[in-house]
Amino acid sequence: MKTAEEYLSSLRDRALVLWIDGQRVDDPVDHPKVRPAINAVAETYRLAHDPEHAALATAHSELTGGAVNRFTHIFRQPEDLIRKIELQRILGRITGTCFQRCVGMDGLNALFIATWEAGPEAHARFLDWLVGVQERDEVICGAMTDPKGDRSRRPAEQPDHYLRVVARDADGIVIRGAKIHQTGAANAHQILVMPGAAMRPGEEDFAVAAAVAADAPGVTMILGRQPSDERKGGPDAGNCRYCGQEVVVLFEDVRVPWSRVFIDGDLAASATLLEAFAGYHRASYGGCKPGNLDVLIGASAALAREHGVDGAHHVKDKLIEMAHLTETIHGVGLAASARSTRHGSGVWQVDPILANVCKQNVTRLPYEIVRLAEDLAGGMMATMPSLADLDHPEIGPRLRAIIGSEARGRLLRLVEFMTYGAGAVPLRIECMHGAGSPQAQRIVIQRHIDWQARIEAARRLAGLENP
Ligand SMILES: Cc1cc2nc3c(=O)[nH]c(=O)nc-3n(C[C@H](O)[C@H](O)[C@H](O)COP(=O)(O)OP(=O)(O)OC[C@H]3O[C@@H](n4cnc5c(N)ncnc54)[C@H](O)[C@@H]3O)c2cc1C
Repeated sequence: MKTAEEYLSSLRDRALVLWIDGQRVDDPVDHPKVRPAINAVAETYRLAHDPEHAALATAHSELTGGAVNRFTHIFRQPEDLIRKIELQRILGRITGTCFQRCVGMDGLNALFIATWEAGPEAHARFLDWLVGVQERDEVICGAMTDPKGDRSRRPAEQPDHYLRVVARDADGIVIRGAKIHQTGAANAHQILVMPGAAMRPGEEDFAVAAAVAADAPGVTMILGRQPSDERKGGPDAGNCRYCGQEVVVLFEDVRVPWSRVFIDGDLAASATLLEAFAGYHRASYGGCKPGNLDVLIGASAALAREHGVDGAHHVKDKLIEMAHLTETIHGVGLAASARSTRHGSGVWQVDPILANVCKQNVTRLPYEIVRLAEDLAGGMMATMPSLADLDHPEIGPRLRAIIGSEARGRLLRLVEFMTYGAGAVPLRIECMHGAGSPQAQRIVIQRHIDWQARIEAARRLAGLENP
């Protein structure tokens, strides 16, 4: 398993095509808008070698016969799903942001199931690739979301808005299109492209799952812009160590050898992949987001102390409410994992209803938690001058007298970062749309709830015959 330092140097070996703010960046590793996001991923490597966390952050792989980083592991027992959630919470609390390796991990597991259903040849190809991923301990960018254009039209009616196969020959396929909102793409070694929607007959070219190197010829990345990007690395960063990352990835006639093509035109396998991924990833939000919210609760509690209001009943009650909502999210994520079932492939799958309830909670409860954090922080979180002003020889001492302490200033910036500032992009908007917008979860809940069993229970108690 790589150490955090080995991970950093492995990124320097790539010939990535990355654009940031209209400029091509040759070595992104030390770029101030990239490095905090790399630092967040690096924590997933550091924990695997940290005696306190190694048991949670690593797992035994039946494929390699050795220890692997949990982010490349296949869920072979129910405990693997529970440990995933526990590890995500710890990492979410350490980084206070998105550490970017969950989409790939959930994608690997979903693809294990889908290729097993697709047949021995597809599964063998996938396993061969997976062993390399585990041995090299790679970051996999899970690339599902297409630009989609007009949502009321099918992919075949607007092919440029969906990634697709445009050519096949004896050596492999050629893919064209784009994937948007790609978490951690510029910090990844490989991109796992997957279909972004259930495809219908006639849409086989869009039903493709394949692996390409992050720096493969034809792959171009454009870094997503966050509201206060210019503060990164500076005194007003809020989170002074880490941040998340979202990227637009263009695939302009990228060649993929058959050895890296796992699904090509198999509609059933591609539907399985989509549903399995959605379940895993919606439960994952029950791990990482409570960890992020722990940081917001901590900042609010620390500020209450700074302000001398931590003894007030209503302040305590608001902090309790923030903790209660956070544990509600975490509890359902754990429950979805604890009530898992074994797929025929030997991989354990989360409970689909609870996984979707977990993510549905995430689209709502953090908004109330953020509201309470903003309430407790006071207006200064929005109106405070730059922390750089505190160090100015002329204005600094006078300003410090107003702000109170540097600790207060830094905590206010952190709350701002995590509520409406730069960090709000990964935290709040990711809570809303990551792993699917709210309606996507409601569709799955509607499909899986046994409505008839509930009607029959009610009819029996109402003294009615059940047909
Ligand atoms: C921070 C962040 C990180 C992400 N990370 C990743 C990642 O790593 N990999 C990845 O593949 N994706 C990622 N995503 C993408 C995420 O899965 C999508 O944002 C999500 O699926 C919603 O898609 P969309 O953004 O295109 O919004 P839309 O699908 O356009 O949704 C916007 C609204 O339109 C509604 N809507 C959409 N389609 C229809 C329709 N046909 N009929 C009626 N209403 C409709 C929705 O219900 C919603 O209310 C990430 C997103 C965010 C914000």
